[in-house]
Amino acid sequence: MDPLDPLGRLDPLGLGALLHPRLPSPLTEVRDERFDRHGVRLLLKRDDLVHPEIPGNKWRKLVPNLAAARARGAGRLVTFGGAYSNHLRATAAAGRLLGLETVGIVRGDELAGAPLNPSLARCAADGMRLHFVTRSDYRRKSDPAGLAALLHAAGAEGAYPVPEGGSNAEAVRGCAELGRELRGTADVAALACGTGGTLAGLAAGLGPGARTLGVPVLKGGFLAAEIRSLQQAAFGGPAGDWSLDERFHWGGFARVPAALDAFAADFEQRHGLPVERLYVAKLLHALAELAGEGAFPRGSAVAAVITGPPLDTTA
Ligand SMILES: *Cc1c(COP(=O)(O)O)cnc(C)c1O
Repeated sequence: MDPLDPLGRLDPLGLGALLHPRLPSPLTEVRDERFDRHGVRLLLKRDDLVHPEIPGNKWRKLVPNLAAARARGAGRLVTFGGAYSNHLRATAAAGRLLGLETVGIVRGDELAGAPLNPSLARCAADGMRLHFVTRSDYRRKSDPAGLAALLHAAGAEGAYPVPEGGSNAEAVRGCAELGRELRGTADVAALACGTGGTLAGLAAGLGPGARTLGVPVLKGGFLAAEIRSLQQAAFGGPAGDWSLDERFHWGGFARVPAALDAFAADFEQRHGLPVERLYVAKLLHALAELAGEGAFPRGSAVAAVITGPPLDTTA
């Protein structure tokens, strides 16, 4: 396998290699008394280091879609996200690096007249054309007629559509590589979930002998069904041994109460790892709680996937 093209046939054009990822991402062990005490080894799978501008799971999900867009002759990509979407930012950066036009359909028409927040400003600086829509129009993207109307209104007909959060069958198959990289390294691979696309692929690639644990950062309990349908689309059926623990969302997406922020700041101090707050902090906190509950047998190794870095507002 070419280390610069770990996606192999998923990326026949070699676009991934063009972006110079750091793959496989580093795996490091940290000593933390909250885990040591229970005989549990904690490993960090540093997907935040895969690419400086298209980090972690966003790289793994986007590259197969970029390849599919190119193979279809589409010079333009259109995608969807909220005002702080990591996925929008990653798509904009990939577009700039590969010379593809990008259009971002952004939830919230009240944002249109206001100064751009740092995340959207980054998208615009990378050449993404932003099109703001009301929340009800945004929701129309889930049915084909609504999607067509949205693309028409955004002037993005003919562009290759990447779904919100980047999760489709191509993306899920791209994330299987993350599971393959983790084979034989840990008993449990754990990650925070938004759309669940990364988990759907990771669990499939991890293979037998280890399980995958997902920590949803949104509340609602709908994610397991989403993951099953993503695996159906990507692999034709269920894949891997995975489960979700729905207790650690802290009230919902982008909710970062002071106690969670303090946990993350303390983890940064102890281990020198910059802790992204919306996903990674919730994962690490969940794992510390689970270790305390005795959820992991003595002698087991848990690999926490660091799915992305904190948003750098100075870049
Ligand atoms: C987007 C994102 C996730 C969520 O990934 P899904 O595949 O949507 O579950 C997790 N962590 C970070 C840092 C992200 O940016």
